[in-house]
Amino acid sequence: MLAVVPPPVTVRAPAKVNLHLAVGDARDDGYHELATIFQALSLTDEVTVSVADEPGLDVTGEGADTVPLDSSNLAWRAARALAEHVGRDPDHLKVRIDIRKSIPVAGGMAGGSADAAATLVGLVNLWRLEMGRDELSGVAATLGSDIPFSLHGGYALGTGRGERLVPVLSRHTFHWVIALASRGLSTPDVFAELDRLRREGSPPRVGGVEPVLEALSSGDPLQLALLLGNDLQAAAVSLRPALRRTLRAGVNAGAVAGMISGSGPSCAFLCTDGDSAVRVAAELSGVGVCRTVRVAHGPVPGARVVSSEDSP
Ligand code: ATP
Repeated sequence: MLAVVPPPVTVRAPAKVNLHLAVGDARDDGYHELATIFQALSLTDEVTVSVADEPGLDVTGEGADTVPLDSSNLAWRAARALAEHVGRDPDHLKVRIDIRKSIPVAGGMAGGSADAAATLVGLVNLWRLEMGRDELSGVAATLGSDIPFSLHGGYALGTGRGERLVPVLSRHTFHWVIALASRGLSTPDVFAELDRLRREGSPPRVGGVEPVLEALSSGDPLQLALLLGNDLQAAAVSLRPALRRTLRAGVNAGAVAGMISGSGPSCAFLCTDGDSAVRVAAELSGVGVCRTVRVAHGPVPGARVVSSEDSP
């Protein structure tokens, strides 16, 4: 009898920007308590999972040469965690994972988390698992704080380390220009720098989340522009002072606000509409303050299958 090999499954997963990121003081376990509002962006990675005799992992696209190809890759760790969760042998995964990156690596936009989320969704389909989103989100949370949001997409309020999510019900679209840097920043280094700055002084802290939630329900970019805030910004700029120039240049180019995305070094510039974002991107790309620019909008859905020969 011939075994039927299921067709490859391709999943698209979004980057995120934190519209509001409040970082509490370091806990005894070294983690920081966060209160954050995530928005999923139209900047996406694509991951294809397929059945293979030998396990394999390949990465192409944005920053591919800086992504590990061994078992530390977050997509591979996601595959192993899912296998263990459903009783498959994680040491004998007959799976190939192909990642096409557009999300900057170590850019503060949760690119690795997007790949992990896409891999989870891909394997649920490839292995024809009966798993609800909540169960999958539980597996995701064991791998990294941003992965549940990469599954969820849209808008969400995240607490804990960012992994405890409450959906935020707004469908308004906002338009962004993202300035990508030549080199990434390590997220743990940025948190450590924030701890250092707080020991030595009082870097600015963002306010409460409520006004940001109100701005999201109004859909008014000018209102939101006044409320964007990120406690990690001072630390990212302290480690990479040139980011100050990038942030200024985006606003000079016509954005209504600019901020560091997550732990940086990507800068996110809010624009009044899609046409304005295209103009800001064109001007910013000529000023020499970043490696390249991308136009994006959000919110978009979380990790979703985009092709599988026999998906419904
Ligand atoms: P976050 O915003 O969630 O803090 P980030 O966007 O700043 O993360 P990532 O792109 O997720 O950073 O990568 C962080 C590090 O993780 C990289 O420096 C890389 O060594 C490692 N890594 C492991 N797997 C991946 C992957 N699939 N894609 C990108 N980086 C990966």
